[in-house]
Amino acid sequence: MKLGFGLMRLPKLEDGSIDVEQVKVMADMFIEAGGTYFDTAFVYEGSEEAIRKALVERHPRNTYTLATKMNGWMAESREAALAQFATSLERTQAGYFDYYLLHSLRDSNIHLYEERGLWDFVIEQKKKGLIRNLGFSFHDTPDLLDQILREHPYVDFVQLQVNYADWENPAIASKGNLEVCKKHGKKVVVMEPVKGGLLADLPEDIVRGLKEYAPEASLPSWAIRFVASQEPVMIVLSGMSNIAQMADNLSYMKDFQPLNEKEMELIREVQRKLDTIDRIACTSCHYCEKGCPMNIPIAKINGAYNMYKLFGDLKAARSNYNVNIRLRNPASACLQCGQCESACPQHLPIIENLQLIARTFE
Ligand code: SF4
Ligand code: SF4
Repeated sequence: MKLGFGLMRLPKLEDGSIDVEQVKVMADMFIEAGGTYFDTAFVYEGSEEAIRKALVERHPRNTYTLATKMNGWMAESREAALAQFATSLERTQAGYFDYYLLHSLRDSNIHLYEERGLWDFVIEQKKKGLIRNLGFSFHDTPDLLDQILREHPYVDFVQLQVNYADWENPAIASKGNLEVCKKHGKKVVVMEPVKGGLLADLPEDIVRGLKEYAPEASLPSWAIRFVASQEPVMIVLSGMSNIAQMADNLSYMKDFQPLNEKEMELIREVQRKLDTIDRIACTSCHYCEKGCPMNIPIAKINGAYNMYKLFGDLKAARSNYNVNIRLRNPASACLQCGQCESACPQHLPIIENLQLIARTFE
């Protein structure tokens, strides 16, 4: 089955701990329906322990595959990053990882994975049999993905952010990144097919065509089936939070049917409607940022603003904005020196946009 069980948003009890009993039911339903792929990470709090209790201690090791991740940029040092591997083994008691990923590679952090020798470390673990398939998750441009795959041709798979709303969005580049993986012959695991839940809750006028065509089909079912219909997608992760979501996902992924031409056209109509929403026409080329004396992450915060305009979820967009300025400066730090505007190939009014972004998020 192409559906993977993402373990990032597991159900919680009132005291904030993970509801392991509910996870057990979800894991059993998933395996019963033919699912095998479970995806956790060192940084998903409580998740690795929960999956030990719900899965590893209750199902034969050869009936499922387990993926987890090393986060090399949130770790304080090389030693702290390397220690994550042993800790993940201890927490899960899985004995080995079927899939192991370097977590969330992007332009701003790939040097840490290189300088800290983390690639060499995971290659060693694969030689020892503690990792069966080696990969990385990725959040950047097709050019950078192409570079990484040329420098590390031995990776077995890549985890990408793919969804129909970001299909042509240069900041996410779902289509472009899939094409790079295809060119390199890499299998793809997809994360966030429903865009963190945003595509589960779109305005009525945007999704009218989908509702008329299949009134019973949930919006996540359209988003997940769209992604599962693409090449070279091996697994589509869904971060399921309760039994009802598991049941809904299994209802269309157990006997998965790719979208037919009529259904693809309906999705293209939704994409066209989403494209008419007033957004900043930034192509995320980053040319403007190189000479910015205030080190403002212009492309990323344009993306956060566009997220807000598209989906109207100010809280989620502000949270994305805050993540992107955490190690850099906010829009309001702009000195209005104009360097960026002279560098922008799209001739965007960057200073004015930053003022708008600051008013929106700060
Ligand atoms: S105008 Fe603002 S954003 Fe542009 S380069 Fe100068 S300080 Fe940076
Ligand atoms: S130069 Fe223009 S298009 Fe490129 S990232 Fe900056 S604002 Fe966006």
